[in-house]
Parts: sequence; C-alpha cells; structure tokens
Amino acid sequence: MRAWRALDTMRGAPWPYCVATFHRVWDGSRDELSYPPAVFAELCRYWRDHYEVLSLDRLLARLAHGDPGSQATIAITFDDGYADNAEIAAPILDALDLPATFFVTTGYIGTERRFPWDATLPVRPRMMSWAQVRELHQAGFGIGSHTVSHPRLSALAAPELDLELGSSKQRLEAELGEEIVDFAFPFGQPSDCGAAAAEAVRRAGYRCCLACAGGLIDAGDSPFALRRVCVSPNFHATPSAWARYFAGQRWRFRPASRAA
Ligand SMILES: [Zn+2]
Repeated sequence: MRAWRALDTMRGAPWPYCVATFHRVWDGSRDELSYPPAVFAELCRYWRDHYEVLSLDRLLARLAHGDPGSQATIAITFDDGYADNAEIAAPILDALDLPATFFVTTGYIGTERRFPWDATLPVRPRMMSWAQVRELHQAGFGIGSHTVSHPRLSALAAPELDLELGSSKQRLEAELGEEIVDFAFPFGQPSDCGAAAAEAVRRAGYRCCLACAGGLIDAGDSPFALRRVCVSPNFHATPSAWARYFAGQRWRFRPASRAA
C-alpha cells in the first residue's frame, strides 16, 4: 500500500476533483451496490488522512471559481435514500467528522416501496423515514433530490420531467425548511440525462446535476454535467485498491480547459 500511497499523494498541479457515489453501506447482501460497513469506515479514514474531503457545497464553490485542485480532493455522496445510509454510514462519517450529501428519492422515503433491482435480494433493504432525512439534515449533512420515482430522465416527456424535478424539490423543502439546490439523476450514465433534461434541471432551480459515473471532474466543468465515481466493493474493496484506481484515473485525466 505504501507505494500506491506515494503515487496518490504525489504533488503536481492540477489535481482533478472526485465526487464519490455510494448506494448502500450494510452487510445484508454482496451485490455491487452494497459496501461493507467495516470497509466503508476504513476507506473514509484513508480519505480523511490522505485527501482533502470537502462538502459538495465547498467543492461546487471551488469549481465555480475555476480553482484547480492542489491535492487529492473528494466529496462523498449517497444515492437513493436507503435507511442504512442514516443508520450505518452517517454515524461512521460523523465519528470521522466527514461531510457528505445524501440524494434521496422522495416517492420512496417513509414507504415500504422497493426498487425493482432490489426485488431478488435475500434481505430487502429498507428506505429512510422522513424523520431520518430530517436528522441527517439537522446533523449538518447535505440533502439533495434524486427525483420522486427514480425514472430515466431521458425517457420522460416534458410534463413528467418537470413533475419529477419540481415535486421532489418541493417535498424536500417542505420537510427540511430549506431550499434544496443539489440534484443527482437516476441511473447516472450520460445517456440517462441528455442536454434537454439537464436544462430542465437548471430551470427547476437546481444549481447542479450529477451523474453517478464518468470519472473525475475538472475545475472548468459545467455544474450541470458533473461526473462522479461510483464506489464499488468489487473494484475499491480496500484503501490500497482505491489509491491504485485513483492514481490510474488521475493519469488518464486531461483537463479540458487546458486543451488547445
Ligand atoms: Zn439512484
């Protein structure tokens, strides 16, 4: 691990930004979206010790100023709104004093509804209650919208699109008493959110639109086309595996603003 740590912390501007995406942190299954709690804690400690861990709010502010990174910088995010986010991940983050943003699917919060991809899991995961969403918010974590019903935005007609973006925002604002400005789109591949959908996200009053894949971010990137790195127990099962992955990403990274 030492060799990779040296690579990972090697100086040299510019550093790209990384927004990491998690879905579940629990031991209930071994699917690719379920991160084991002990490994999650280990990875968070590694980031705390070797990276600059920013809230999404601060990372977006740096991007808006066009600041190039000067060290490995990461923001931690969660998609979908699973109860384990509040019950397992948040206490780990809290103990390490790390910020994070939780993107929740408002039509599933406080219900028994299950996502189609969870139907075959041996233990069906629970969703957060609204009380848990409020507790995360009160504890200082960021809360963002992940739509009402988790549709593919690219497949929606304009009225449905506006409903998914607007109703989820309004519900979160009513529950939390604060304006909600961060949005992560479901499924998260570029084809799941085209230019028209990204424009609808902007029109709905959000300040950003995050994918759940795509890699690292350059300081000049649009806040409505932000890539993330989906953290998977299959590829990032240890801090050294993460460090190796991140180093490889960094070498592939070519800041768009410096082209031509
Ligand atoms: Zn999702």
